[in-house]
Formats: sequence, structure tokens, C-alpha cells
Amino acid sequence: MAPRPDSLAMIRRLVAFDTTSRNSNLDLIAFVQDYLDGFGIKSQLMKDETGQKANLYATIGPDDRAGYALSGHTDVVPVDGQDWASDPWDVKEADGRLYGRGTTDMKGFVGVVLAAVPELAKRQLTTPVHLLFSYDEEVGCLGVRRALEVIKEFPVKPKGCVIGEPTSMKVAIAHKGKKSLRCHVHGLECHSSLAPKGVNAVEYAAEVIGYLKRMGRRFAKEGPFDPDYDVAHTTVHTGIVRGGTALNIVPKDCSFDFEFRYLPVQNPDDLVAEVKRFAEEQLAAEMRAISGETGFSWEPISAFPGLDTAEDAEITVIAKALTQANDTIKIAFGTEGGLIQEIDIPTVICGPGSIEQAHKPNEWVALDQIAQCEAFLQRLTAKVSA
Ligand SMILES: [Zn+2]
Repeated sequence: MAPRPDSLAMIRRLVAFDTTSRNSNLDLIAFVQDYLDGFGIKSQLMKDETGQKANLYATIGPDDRAGYALSGHTDVVPVDGQDWASDPWDVKEADGRLYGRGTTDMKGFVGVVLAAVPELAKRQLTTPVHLLFSYDEEVGCLGVRRALEVIKEFPVKPKGCVIGEPTSMKVAIAHKGKKSLRCHVHGLECHSSLAPKGVNAVEYAAEVIGYLKRMGRRFAKEGPFDPDYDVAHTTVHTGIVRGGTALNIVPKDCSFDFEFRYLPVQNPDDLVAEVKRFAEEQLAAEMRAISGETGFSWEPISAFPGLDTAEDAEITVIAKALTQANDTIKIAFGTEGGLIQEIDIPTVICGPGSIEQAHKPNEWVALDQIAQCEAFLQRLTAKVSA
């Protein structure tokens, strides 16, 4: 299947805006707002505190009743240090693919949605379609948090949401949540020949990291399990350790970053409480016996809740019909879906392209995926029309 030229032109236009998360997305958002204006569709911007980033929210069709939201983020990950064979901001079509930063994550979806707007605007809609385009998803779902603060106060909010993150147009109803933290270990410095008179921050960090590793082993062995995931249990991982200055100095400071990727049935606060309890109860007393100034402090890095939408939720049933699929999947990567679900908007993930191609050099989306996404939106348009 070949996609329509207007979808391709729109994707090309969106990719040309360098909306790497560190940049402002206002140019792209202004372009979208103008475009929607051209079809008589009013949109609302929700800016961040710097005024340099904005979400856009719009309703096509009647505004006195709840409809279906199509949601996508407008930011992309950096291309720095990546070896690209073509200009990442200039979409190149070759081998049945579109190459460019964001083609799969996720300006492909946003472009197809925008290209469907003329038809949606022309029809007499009985159920509205809401558009939500957010900023700063790639750096912690910041934009959508801001948008949801506003949307949750609306007299009518969407009754279901489709996020177009790349799932190869399969309907994903669940993903794990993530909670990540930085632990600072405060020790006491001294000459290494007097090691027992110091408090070695690196060694205490290692004990906590070892405990995290044991927690991970326990989940792998005892569950809880959900076989629909590639990795069927909660995982624990330490990614960065910083500590020590010289071998002949007992290190005063060490910090390390760790994360839980948890099944929606688990409470992340319980997991964090468990590791803190180990540090405080098993280690801190020993440290403080040498110096009262020592111990642990904990700093949140980022978190997003898991997504867990029912198989028989209306949005699941509709998304399955629109993709003509009989089954649903659960995905390994996180999305804004858990946050949207928290304000009682049932959400599924379904978008063109594969997460395998996301965030990489020479990111691409298959033309066939774009065409499948067009078909999804055509069926949606028919469904919400009189
Ligand atoms: Zn994404």
C-alpha cells in the first residue's frame, strides 16, 4: 500500500522542524495552529513556565460531548554523535521507507493525523475527535503532565485516547511503569591505611547496589509475572555509579542511579521503601557509629506510571476494529499513556513504525506503515461521522 502524497508532505514538513527536546517547539506548534485555523478549527495552547514550549489541544466536531483523542509528542531525541547517512531533518524516501529524525517516533503519526484533518473538518461529526500534541515527552513526559492539569478540569474530557507511539499499528493496552532514583552515599574521608576510621561511601553504595540486584533476582524467580511481556517480571537496574578520587583515599562520596521497571500490579513506592529500609536498617547504624554525619539521601530522577487498559474497554474495542485486528499486545517501552489513564481517560497505544527504529541514526518508518495509519484514521473518520 502506498501512502497519500499529502501525508508524506506533512511528515516532511514536521520533520524539518528541529524539535530536539532541548529546543523550543513553538515554531512547529504555530505551524500546526495555523494549519488547523485554515479549516476553522480552534486550538488551545498550554505553555510551560518558560513560555518556550507548548502543547496544543483542539477539538474537531461538537464540543458539548466527549470524543476520542489522538495524542502524540512533538519533540524528538538528539542526533548528536550519531552517524546519519542523510540529513536527519530532510526526509529521504528510499527502499519503501522514509528516513529522518522522528519519522517513527513520532512525527509519522502526527503527520498522518494532520493530513486527515481536512476530511474530518468536512464531515458532520457526531462524536468529536480531539488532538493533543505535547512537548518534552522524551525527557520525562513533561508536556503531557501540564496538559492533563488543564484537561482534567474541562467540563467534557475525551472518553478514550489513542497515542500513536510506534507499535507497528498493533493495539497495545499495557506497559510497565518506571521509577528511577539517585542515591547519595555520604561517607567519611581518611587515608586508606586507616580505612576502619573512615566510612567508605563506595563500599556502602556497593552493598545497596547488591541488594537491588538481589531484589531483581527475586522478581525473576518469584514474580509477579505477566507472560504477555517480553520480560515477564519487574526489573531492577543500576546504570551509573560515581565515586572515589584516589586509591589511597577512603572515598567520602558515592552516588548511583537505579531504576525499577515494574508491572502495573506492583506499587513502585513499596519497591523504593524496601531498598531504603535495607540501607537505613542494615547499613546506616554501622556508618554512624564512626561518624554521625554519614548516611544516605535519595533523590527522584523520573517516573511514569504503568499503563493497564482493559481488554474490553471501549477504546480497546474501537482500536481493534480500526486496525482490523483481533488481538492486543503489551509493550516494553513507556509512554504518556499511564499519565493519561490517571485522569480517567482509557488509553491505548497504536502507531506506525517500530520502536526498534526509534532513537537511532537513520531512523525510518515503512511507507506501508504510514498507509496502514491512514486507513486507521479513515475508518475512525467514518465511525465518528453522521
Ligand atoms: Zn515517542
